[in-house]
Amino acid sequence: MPTIPVIIIGTGPVGLSASTALSRQGICNVVIEKHPSTSIHPKARGVNVRTMELCRLWGAEQQIRRSELPITARRFLWMNHVKGEIQGDVSFVTEQEELSPTEPCLLSQDIFEQELLACLKTQKNSQVHFDTRAINLSQDDQFVYCELENLIDQTRTKIQAQYLIAADGANSFVRKKLNINMDGIPLLGTHVSVYCETDLSPWLSDKPFVVMAFTDKEQVGRVIMAVDLKHRWIFSKRIADANEILTKKASIQLVRATVDEPDLIISVYCHPFVLNKDKCENNHPDHTP
Ligand SMILES: Cc1cc2nc3c(=O)[nH]c(=O)nc-3n(C[C@H](O)[C@H](O)[C@H](O)COP(=O)(O)OP(=O)(O)OC[C@H]3O[C@@H](n4cnc5c(N)ncnc54)[C@H](O)[C@@H]3O)c2cc1C
Repeated sequence: MPTIPVIIIGTGPVGLSASTALSRQGICNVVIEKHPSTSIHPKARGVNVRTMELCRLWGAEQQIRRSELPITARRFLWMNHVKGEIQGDVSFVTEQEELSPTEPCLLSQDIFEQELLACLKTQKNSQVHFDTRAINLSQDDQFVYCELENLIDQTRTKIQAQYLIAADGANSFVRKKLNINMDGIPLLGTHVSVYCETDLSPWLSDKPFVVMAFTDKEQVGRVIMAVDLKHRWIFSKRIADANEILTKKASIQLVRATVDEPDLIISVYCHPFVLNKDKCENNHPDHTP
């Protein structure tokens, strides 16, 4: 069985960053991702200043900033409805020149992950395997043993590593396998998000924003998040039941109702998500937070 210093499960921001940091220190690592690529969903909207400092150190900052939203978009807007008036405008432009050589970056997570991956590919100590799922793991005093399934040909392999980094996200397979519980506030809210491509420029091109919320009674709870401020948007609404699945038809209806354009042409991709504020318990013997 091949032995490697570190296996990392997941090519989200955490896994890719961990792999880059280790590779730069000369520590060989293997990154495993069950999907065929990094995320195709835009997910998070921004990269904070500390992360940008690391990206700068890794030589990735310029590439990342190529797709950054303009500084004028660094604000939350409240409108009564898409075609209505601005009711509230909270800007979050930060003046950090004296504290940091860089600043936060408004960028969707799918692009951020692509840039992190491109940066990682310039490192020689890392291997990334997509379409590969970690299906089992165990450990003894010396090693972590991980069983992997190639999702293209269903073949299984076992590898052993000195360390394993569980960068496998909120529903972490590794966390569950180690019986590490979550604690904190279990549920902050339940939303469904619709990632779509549509042209909103007739109504929104004169008011750049990152998040737009609504105050009209029938629009309350709906939010638009700008992905590229051109064609890519995330529409979100509060739902009562976390298990509610929005059909494609209902997703299109949500977008059209929010914009109040019954014939708007839209391509949609749907992704439900739940807002939690819990975190892994810190005192578990197998867990280094
Ligand atoms: C729709 C949506 C909108 C969001 N919006 C925001 C936002 O506006 N702001 C914000 O701060 N955050 C937002 N988030 C949350 C943000 O995306 C996450 O906090 C972030 O992705 C966490 O990064 P991570 O690297 O820890 O995990 P993830 O990005 O979840 O990456 C984990 C990776 O591990 C892989 N994986 C899991 N299990 C296995 C396995 N057994 N074998 C191999 N691979 C595995 C997964 O496929 C995934 O690629 C949003 C999330 C979603 C889903």
